[in-house]
Amino acid sequence: MAKKDEVLECSFCGRKKPETDLLIAGLDAHICDKCIEQAHGIVMEEIAGSNSSEITHDLIVKKPKEIKAFIDQYMIGQDQAKRVMAVAVYNHYKRLLQPASKDEEEVEIEKSNIIIVGETGTGKTLIARTIARMLNVPFCIVDATVLTEAGYVGEDVETILTRLLQAADYDVSKAERGIVFIDEIDKIARKGDNPSITRDVSGEGVQQALLKLLEGSVVNVPPKGGRKHPDQKFIEVNTKNILFMAGGAFSGIDKVIGKRLNRQAVGYGASIKEDVIDKANMLKYIIPKDLRDFGLIPEIIGRLPVLTHMDPLDETTLRMILTEPKNAIIKQYQKLFKMDGIDFTIHENALMYIVDKAVEYKLGARGLRSLCEAILTDAMFELPGTGEKVLKITKDYAEDKINLSTIKKLKAVS
Ligand code: ADP
Repeated sequence: MAKKDEVLECSFCGRKKPETDLLIAGLDAHICDKCIEQAHGIVMEEIAGSNSSEITHDLIVKKPKEIKAFIDQYMIGQDQAKRVMAVAVYNHYKRLLQPASKDEEEVEIEKSNIIIVGETGTGKTLIARTIARMLNVPFCIVDATVLTEAGYVGEDVETILTRLLQAADYDVSKAERGIVFIDEIDKIARKGDNPSITRDVSGEGVQQALLKLLEGSVVNVPPKGGRKHPDQKFIEVNTKNILFMAGGAFSGIDKVIGKRLNRQAVGYGASIKEDVIDKANMLKYIIPKDLRDFGLIPEIIGRLPVLTHMDPLDETTLRMILTEPKNAIIKQYQKLFKMDGIDFTIHENALMYIVDKAVEYKLGARGLRSLCEAILTDAMFELPGTGEKVLKITKDYAEDKINLSTIKKLKAVS
């Protein structure tokens, strides 16, 4: 205790009471107004720092147009999907930044989980992966076909979050802002007339189980996944701010869409004339009701409110995919050969030949890679160490390699 005639001073900076505007007494210490101000500054800096610099720096500044421009570097075409997803991602992270409010009147921004419908190999995973790369948030891909209702053979839906935790190096708060891509969501659609009895035939149980993840709730996640480690301690993960993207080919949905459009075309007050329908790309007319008719339950559709589609890849797009994107396949081979001091070039007609084969084998963009591998594996095996400095691939060379390769067998199974 200070004696009566002793001049009080700040315990932090030592200023005497007369030199301060205010001196606040604690249990056995004092603090002056200047030190309070300084301490307040430090606290604010700390809060700003820990409040995820990724969110404040990276996310806020990326406007939808910037998001799309980023995706454009890695992905050809698919403009509609890019625009829709750029807006959805932008809104999602705006939602994360809205201050928590207890005011009942306050407008609450809901989640903008996304569902992408498109044939296999059209870039559904690529767009999700590219967005995650841009945002620098943990990202994982899970296959809906391995998921089952609790109690069935397969993985519980909670293991989706195990993957996300792993991608976030078990940093829960990071994982809670991550992106999950659920592939093949169409495979858990209710199949009314499917005679299969191998597992949860309806798929509806999995859809039900997914609901709680999608809508945002606290989920007990087995950190090692699976049921092989029964003694593991669960980690609580809140899915409120996790962005879910689901993708699927929904094979046959074009017929569902076609039927609906037909009804609309002939119905009273018809809005779409049949002769203007682009039959080569029915997916662009997709609406949530079509997903329902395909077999997704309404609750799932409601929790994946942003619906978009991928256009089928035509020859021009496939040709561009080979050489244009930042990570283009041909650029990757050029880099690989360069590491061996080999200057690799490929003729335009060889590129067109690869595109034609990808179309013929119905392999889509995914096939471009397998075709290039089939053409270049011999060269990649033979050339290193020979001192060869140049590799020029002509159409004849490509054709020979494809004719000799096993890739032709793919045609049979496709
Ligand atoms: P999906 O998930 O629709 O089955 P992916 O995203 O896995 O297809 O695409 C397969 C591969 O094809 C990707 O690795 C990517 O290299 C390529 N690809 C597909 N679409 C595009 C595109 N529009 N632009 C560039 N590359 C593409």
